Amino acid sequence: MRSAIFEGAGKPLAIEEREIPRPAAGQAVIRVCRCGICASDLSMTGGSPFDMPAGTAPGHEYAGEVVEAGAESGLKPGDRVTALPIAGCGTCPACRADAPLQCAQMRSMAGGYSEYALVDGRASFRLPDALSFTDGALVEPLASSLRGIRRLEIAPDSRIAVIGAGAIGAGAIYWLRQKGVGRITAIARTRRGADLVDTMGADGLVTTGEGLNERVAELLGGAPDIVVEGAGAPGLLQQAIELVGWNGQILSLGGCMKPDPIVPFFGMIKEATIRFSVAYGRSEFREVLDTLEAGHMEPHAMIGDTISLTDLPARFEAMRTGSHPAKVMVDPTLA
Ligand SMILES: [Zn+2]
Ligand SMILES: [Zn+2]
Repeated sequence: MRSAIFEGAGKPLAIEEREIPRPAAGQAVIRVCRCGICASDLSMTGGSPFDMPAGTAPGHEYAGEVVEAGAESGLKPGDRVTALPIAGCGTCPACRADAPLQCAQMRSMAGGYSEYALVDGRASFRLPDALSFTDGALVEPLASSLRGIRRLEIAPDSRIAVIGAGAIGAGAIYWLRQKGVGRITAIARTRRGADLVDTMGADGLVTTGEGLNERVAELLGGAPDIVVEGAGAPGLLQQAIELVGWNGQILSLGGCMKPDPIVPFFGMIKEATIRFSVAYGRSEFREVLDTLEAGHMEPHAMIGDTISLTDLPARFEAMRTGSHPAKVMVDPTLA
């Protein structure tokens, strides 16, 4: 099978011929039909301490069709599935609390930039008939923002600012709107993501620069009760602290992997709370699937180009610079 392999920071992904994996007990092999490109794939191949191991294929936002099912996987050939790209032991306190990323025996099940990939049976979900493989590949990013939003205390009149108009910011806006809040504004450097955040439920998009706090407060009718940092660049946590109102909540969801200094006194004056959130459990995947199956198709606005494995390495490098509001999808079944 063909896989796009990470060969080390500073090198483009390499298309290599690999053995099709075989499933152990509890696992299945899928033919990957869609795999989204995530900003974390770029940052975890960019020379940070969080880089994935060289010699492996990235890709954790996938959906596909089961071609071989191991014993006790609960799956069978032909099943259309998406899956959490992490496998826990299933029995420890973290797994029982639906936080498989915290499991001491956690295994990454990334590898979606390949014609075939292994999935963990316990982490897999059959796609409802109404949903496409593209929908299936959207579940993971939407589950990430959902978990963050679930950690906030929101009220029907909450004023909310979301920094970032890409996949994470737009996902956060979507869930905030679904959960019923007062007013939401996106904040971004350009208006490029304006249509996307509008579709996802924002009341407006404010561009950064002169008078940001005042322009945000004007749109929301006051300083935000909640600021979601959904862009992951240094400086944004401090920006969030400066934006948020008294007793406000800040959610760090952007996944910045560089030092991001803050001046704690600003947060002290606000008596603000900063929360972090990572990944998802089965319950977030379930809620995303149920929401999409119920006909909420706004997240389709996130979908950008669909490309082949052959085109992936060049596209992946090009995405290291600039902003990318849309989700680029890899279709490894394309020639
Ligand atoms: Zn992702
Ligand atoms: Zn566990």
